Amino acid sequence: MSISPTEKLFSIFDQTALMLEKELSCSYLEAIAETGENLFHKAVLQDEISEITVKRIKKQYEQINLDSMTNEEIRKAYQLAILKGMKQQVQSNHQMTPDGVGMLVSYLVSKFMGACPRYRLLDPAIGTGNLLTTVLNGQTNKEIESIGIDIDDVLIKLAYVNANLQKHSIELFNQDSLELLFVDPVDVVVSDLPVGYYPNDLRASEFKLKADEGHSFAHHLFIEQSCRYVKPGGYLFFIIPNHMFKTSEAPKLHQFIQNNLIIQGLLQLPLSMFTNEQAGKSIFILQKNKEGIIPPKQVLLVDLPSFSNSKAIETILYKINNWFKENKQVN
Ligand code: SAM
Repeated sequence: MSISPTEKLFSIFDQTALMLEKELSCSYLEAIAETGENLFHKAVLQDEISEITVKRIKKQYEQINLDSMTNEEIRKAYQLAILKGMKQQVQSNHQMTPDGVGMLVSYLVSKFMGACPRYRLLDPAIGTGNLLTTVLNGQTNKEIESIGIDIDDVLIKLAYVNANLQKHSIELFNQDSLELLFVDPVDVVVSDLPVGYYPNDLRASEFKLKADEGHSFAHHLFIEQSCRYVKPGGYLFFIIPNHMFKTSEAPKLHQFIQNNLIIQGLLQLPLSMFTNEQAGKSIFILQKNKEGIIPPKQVLLVDLPSFSNSKAIETILYKINNWFKENKQVN
């Protein structure tokens, strides 16, 4: 039975990462970044490993030609390897954005940006780069300058290798995104927000959405911070927890949104994607206020069916297209 290029590449990532993990005494996830970088440079870059392992790794690399693969094939293989690594090193807030969600966000970005030929795109919680590169892969004939930020050094390394393997030029910063950013205003923000408390109360005190008492919600501060760095009229696509509007801090968030942003859409992801109802998430679409912008007649409200139900997804896409025809000049 023949295997797909994605399966083949995953197997090479996996086999070589296992060898590097052992020889470098690092985690499997770190080894994935190492082997990905090797593949990109077409060389074994680690000089602390034995000659025999170098030979075995090279033999694996000879079995694949990345130039003959599409970006999506490469991304999916890399994603599978990272998923395997994340299973061993579970950190709920570091989870990669699932494929179906990334593809839907990508579709929405292309619909909202319409024919705009070039723009700047920021993901302030880029993680492994899976969401951002899925979005980039979904935009054709566009000149997109992208920027990614993450506080986690292993994840940003994975994002860096991910970008290289897919030949996307992404400017990356390894820092706390809630600190001052050296980023010029962008046209679009996409982000699967980290959910929970932000530990730095001093920094949080610089935000309107800081909590009155105790730690503030990181996801609220991320929304405010993104709003600072997006141009007037720019769009923001966030993956948010469904409970975001149900906490005692929600009225302040509502007020902030009302003063600065226009709600475009709220698409609830199928609950079957999450371990329990409490963990459910939605895609929240906003636009930064700008004089002359007319809010949609109706906010795009969607309860998404399971992504495996293609018939129901088709109906929803039809509904989304109709919403665009009625509420947006683009498309
Ligand atoms: N979209 C990403 C992907 O496809 O891999 C996953 C994003 S994950 C849900 C949230 C990310 O936020 C994690 O990578 C985490 O390290 C990052 N993060 C959490 N707090 C942060 C902070 N203060 N500044 C920057 N990044 C942060």
